Amino acid sequence: MGRRWLYRFEEGAAELLHLLGSKGAGIAELTQIGIPTPPGFVITTDACNAYYAAGRHLPEGLWEQVLEAVRGIEGRLGKRFGDPNRPLLLSVRSGAAVSMPGMMDTVLNLGLNDHVAAGIAHSLDPRFAYDAYRRLLQMFGRIVMKVPGEAFEEVLEAYKRRGPVLRQDTDLEAEELQEICERFKAIIRARAAQPFPQDPYEQLRQAITAVFDSWMGKRAVDYRRIHRIPDTLGTAVTVQAMVFGNLGPDSATGVAFTRNPATGEKRLYGEYLTQAQGEDVVAGIRTPKPLEHLQEEMPEAYAELVRIAERLERHYRDMQDIEFTIERGRLWVLQTRSGKRTGAGAIRIAVDMVQEGLIDRRAAVMRVEPELVAQLLHPTLDEAHRARAREEGRLLARGLPASPGAASGRVVFDPDEAERLSAQGERVILVRPETAPEDFHGMVAARAILTSRGGMTSHAAVVARGMGKPCVVGAEAITVDPTAQEMSAGGVRVRAGEWITVDGSTGEVYLGVLPTRDPELAGEFATFMGWADEFRRMGVRANADTPQDAQRARAFGAEGIGLCRTEHMFFTGDRIYAMREMIVATTPEERRAALARIEPLQRQDFVELFRIMDGFPVVIRTLDPPLHEFLPPDEDALRETAQRIGVSVEVLRGKVAALREANPMMGLRGCRLGILYPEITEMQARAIFEAAAACQAEGVRVEPEVMIPLVSGLNELRQQAEIVRQVAEEVQARTGQRIHYRIGTMVEVPRAALVADRIAEVAEFFSFGTNDLTQFTFGMSRDDAVRFLPRYLDQRILQEDPFQMLDREGVGQLVRMGTERGRLSRPELVVGICGEHGGEPASVKFCHRTGLDYVSCSPYRVPVARLAAAQAVLEESSGG
Ligand code: PEP
Ligand code: MG
Repeated sequence: MGRRWLYRFEEGAAELLHLLGSKGAGIAELTQIGIPTPPGFVITTDACNAYYAAGRHLPEGLWEQVLEAVRGIEGRLGKRFGDPNRPLLLSVRSGAAVSMPGMMDTVLNLGLNDHVAAGIAHSLDPRFAYDAYRRLLQMFGRIVMKVPGEAFEEVLEAYKRRGPVLRQDTDLEAEELQEICERFKAIIRARAAQPFPQDPYEQLRQAITAVFDSWMGKRAVDYRRIHRIPDTLGTAVTVQAMVFGNLGPDSATGVAFTRNPATGEKRLYGEYLTQAQGEDVVAGIRTPKPLEHLQEEMPEAYAELVRIAERLERHYRDMQDIEFTIERGRLWVLQTRSGKRTGAGAIRIAVDMVQEGLIDRRAAVMRVEPELVAQLLHPTLDEAHRARAREEGRLLARGLPASPGAASGRVVFDPDEAERLSAQGERVILVRPETAPEDFHGMVAARAILTSRGGMTSHAAVVARGMGKPCVVGAEAITVDPTAQEMSAGGVRVRAGEWITVDGSTGEVYLGVLPTRDPELAGEFATFMGWADEFRRMGVRANADTPQDAQRARAFGAEGIGLCRTEHMFFTGDRIYAMREMIVATTPEERRAALARIEPLQRQDFVELFRIMDGFPVVIRTLDPPLHEFLPPDEDALRETAQRIGVSVEVLRGKVAALREANPMMGLRGCRLGILYPEITEMQARAIFEAAAACQAEGVRVEPEVMIPLVSGLNELRQQAEIVRQVAEEVQARTGQRIHYRIGTMVEVPRAALVADRIAEVAEFFSFGTNDLTQFTFGMSRDDAVRFLPRYLDQRILQEDPFQMLDREGVGQLVRMGTERGRLSRPELVVGICGEHGGEPASVKFCHRTGLDYVSCSPYRVPVARLAAAQAVLEESSGG
């Protein structure tokens, strides 16, 4: 026999994850540890890759192996595929090595055709037979033969509406279902230009091919791009004997989490439906019952489920998401996997499991995705305003709290519209009766998601939790009408474009905008972050320009400020006019006079920052942006400014024209400003050192670090450092305070990295400004890249947006080189990073491996960076 393309469940092992996909490997492992699982086999991801390599043809030998494996299942169950008397029915599922919505998910009941359905109707139950058949036709038609799902839904709806009351699909009669099957076949024949295949093996072959094809479907590709999953992984295909949750009142199907995925609480948690098949629970068509009801309805099956859940959790040492079916009272586990969870859930589970002795602290720290932590830093609704909104009758509805956090936005009913509006900078909330994989792009664009139907494991809930977006599902009091572009609840109508607020932590939906509150780092979250800090070696600082930012940064555990962008201080209040006066000044004296008005205010800014950062370093960067950014943006502002600063409109307009640059990013900015106008550097240095001296006199431990931006060679830095040092000496002599300070530079143009050894002769610290370093290394403007970067990502010219995730291959070399060369001439050189990348996990890990002393990022990203820095250490010691 040639190459091996599949494994039977009893043969596959968990180590074959990459070959069997997570679903396949999971079922194989279940089988092997003795959990009751229907028999089947897995076609490997290799076969998927071979399928594409062969121009979308099943690889040689695969089909023969499938036939043999099906014979194996037939033997074990005493049933036959396509036999009307003892029919074997199969399910086919896709599954990559990582969980990935957006692919073809599942086709159930393969093996039914006119004969087999008639056979089951005769020997078992006609209602069951034709219900199963219509499900196959519907799923196969939609997923494999690409007939739009509505075509089938319309027919089904029409039947449900027959008679005096609206019925559920479980109420349809056998004869009606048989008619529906005929209509479905007709729909397929008309829409797919091919009849539904009556040959069960042809059904199986087409379903397998459809799984492979779905790997390159748009939704799957979109998902992989967002989650950075490589195309080369491929998908496996799991083929398994069917068991039935719709064989009567003692049959059911459901989903169980061994702990609550939203809160982490240790209690079996989930939902089920009696008289239903697998997809009914997640499709959101009928709202499922909470698992507690199963305890009353089927106590034995429930007890077995509890036992199995405990067993699985001990085996996998992680929270499990279990799919089960109860066929005539007998429990079958269809799959188990590590359950997706919110940030709060992940942290509580990790902390609890350490306390239960299931895992150690290392495992706990490794188990929480750094990106998930950002969710805990989501704003929550301010309680006082929540109460007021309730009194005002603005509480529209209460649904299920599917994914925590609160957000306000404009109501949008259409995912394309959500994408379009969000691209224009609008905040939108996607509102749907329920969501399906084709809505994914709209969910990505939305700030929150609201559905009127569905349970905690509906598509909307699962996807929103994965993305960390606020989400409320099953808000049944709301009627959503996407065609009319409106929704209504309790007599209140809300049209597209109106503002609502969704609180995914409580399930509440409010009319209008409600203010939110900053999150806190406390309880289990604090315990967990404390463990991360035990492992972490790199420091984590924050980029902060205001006292509020600095306070938040400390609350989130920042160990100092890694970048204070002083230019932001020039915009507050009246300072901008003094700044403009400084810009139009023609002599150093005039400039000094204007700067003198800013200086006391700037000094006060620094005093506040030093006080908040008592005992920690504060990196203050001298002025960086090109001056035109400070000038009036339009004619009105120009006139007003002219009047306020006492120059003619013509003079000011002339100045605006004179400062216009063809490429301001490469123009008069950074240290070049301080070289042309040394008065600016002098003023800023004086404000820094006077603030430091004043704070130190009060007993605050100050560690100012003065940072010169955009340096490309030693002489620029030397000249600026000289000014700073002179001012420092002067202030120290005058105040009698000896201040421990450092002078350093940003490394943000490639040349600085190349000549880092020379620059380090003067610089006592380096901070990689990877925003600029990326833009100059790629020759790609940060502001203009939006025009072409999306195309680059679409076409895989770039795998990642280099402004978000550090380009380790290129820019990373400059970081490594700059660090090494800098330390060559100054071994004690302190090296950090303060570009946006300082809060992005993969980039943080790179910084650790490169030997940086600290990362600095936005205050909200500080816990993310702390965790990533800890994981970097653990990955290093595990050789990963
Ligand atoms: C940088 O360039 O990475 C940086 C932190 O500075 P800015 O973004 O202010 O240019
Ligand atoms: Mg910069």
